[in-house]
Amino acid sequence: MDEHSNIDSIFDKYLDEDNPIFINREILSPNYVPEYLPHREDKFEEMAKILGPALRGGSPSNIFIYGTTGTGKTAVTKYVLKKLKKKADEREIEFSFSFFNCQHIDTKYRVFAQLCDDIAVDVPFTGLHFDIVYQKFKEGLDELKTLHIIVLDEVDSLYRKSTESLYILTRLNSELVQSKIGIIGITNDVNFKETLDPRIRSSLSEEEIVFSPYTAEQLKDILNQRVEKALNKDALEFGVLNLCAAIGAQQHGDARRSIDLLRVAAELAEREGAEKVTELHVRKAQQVIERNTVVEVLGSLPIQTKAVLQAIFIGESKSEELNTGDVYDIYSSICKLIRLDRLTPRRVSDLINELDMLGLVTARVISKGRYGRSKRINLTIPKAQVKEILEKDFRLSKVFEENSV
Ligand code: ADP
Ligand code: MG
Repeated sequence: MDEHSNIDSIFDKYLDEDNPIFINREILSPNYVPEYLPHREDKFEEMAKILGPALRGGSPSNIFIYGTTGTGKTAVTKYVLKKLKKKADEREIEFSFSFFNCQHIDTKYRVFAQLCDDIAVDVPFTGLHFDIVYQKFKEGLDELKTLHIIVLDEVDSLYRKSTESLYILTRLNSELVQSKIGIIGITNDVNFKETLDPRIRSSLSEEEIVFSPYTAEQLKDILNQRVEKALNKDALEFGVLNLCAAIGAQQHGDARRSIDLLRVAAELAEREGAEKVTELHVRKAQQVIERNTVVEVLGSLPIQTKAVLQAIFIGESKSEELNTGDVYDIYSSICKLIRLDRLTPRRVSDLINELDMLGLVTARVISKGRYGRSKRINLTIPKAQVKEILEKDFRLSKVFEENSV
């Protein structure tokens, strides 16, 4: 067999129409949104009840949506806005909306440049003075005599990077004469509201919608809806769906997790040439996914945070009980070794808290001493994994060598 026909046959195997597992793998991909979202009718109602009157000319209330990841906040919001737009068009009511994933924007300029773009007002991507962009949007929007909804998905991210953007947005309505805007802020961080500047908080959360975790039963329905179109009827061993649903339910009712599990399990089965997806494939998929999440989170940390994590790693290798002060001492020596600016104990303590929030370490308060609160620090992820990823940074790999751990 020559090289080409070999590759051909490999492709054939994966594209084969009588693939025993997949009919259409796209349906289990993270980007696929089904036409109908089961178990969220009550959320559609809540949103429609708030937005509907605004469409008839009333004042729009801002909506604050929160709930843990994978509970359908993004999907449901997009769905409702799409339907609303359709209704408005049918009845010839002016309505438009902008959708931001705030992880990808960091300045007020970018926010307003995109807003301009969405209402077809021409501004360059950079270069103008912010006040001019702001003015152009305001005037452009007012001319349209419209209701414009601005969705800020992952709004906590914008708040961290540009609090001012949020402040300006919440004040925008009072500057408009003929048009109105409504803001929908979405966050996965259930504690975020408490950290908001009170002026922004009261404006953003005029109305609140909470997305509760899906139960295992609900997750099973969500999976079933996709399975019919995505997988062959006989490809699933009995119990597989239940297991994917159960694990998603344990992970704070996360539909994304359940769907990912099923997809990865099916891919593993396919790669093995198995006829059916089994519970064992799901267990393996779980390991793959958990590992990927940790690798992603760890890999994307800034160098200072990585150095703190490395200090915790080294500290744990040398003694059983590690407190904030120990970590700081080791961190200081790392900084010296690799010529990194040394942060204050206070900042390092913040970084430890961040690592705790990410679930990479646990930090428990043990005493309130003269230098503030001391905490007992522990790694929560396998040490081999931490080392493997930190070593990818050549500066930190030097530290491992010096410390021979
Ligand atoms: P969140 O924004 O709350 O983190 P998403 O809206 O991104 O969650 O949903 C996560 C994944 O689960 C997406 O792939 C979405 O299509 C799917 N999903 C969420 N809720 C449902 C539902 N009720 N029915 C079908 N699929 C859903
Ligand atoms: Mg989301």
